[in-house]
Amino acid sequence: MKKVNMAKQPDVVCDKCKNDIFLPAVKMKRISEILSSNGRETIQPMQIFVCASCGHVNDEWLPKEDKDPTEPKSNIITDSNG
Ligand SMILES: [Zn+2]
Repeated sequence: MKKVNMAKQPDVVCDKCKNDIFLPAVKMKRISEILSSNGRETIQPMQIFVCASCGHVNDEWLPKEDKDPTEPKSNIITDSNG
């Protein structure tokens, strides 16, 4: 394994406030009965990191599988639950 000098690497900063300290957090995902292995709706935790200053989560760390790459970039999360 290559030794990396961490001090020389660029910091990842918050997209919103440019803070460079993050805290671990957990996002809860609802797994529908169709996708769930036991045939029942389940809740699954997903580890993410939030900005320690403003609580923002950088877009690049959020799961992207449900995003259409042809769609223009948007921060709007539609909640179709209901
Ligand atoms: Zn921030």
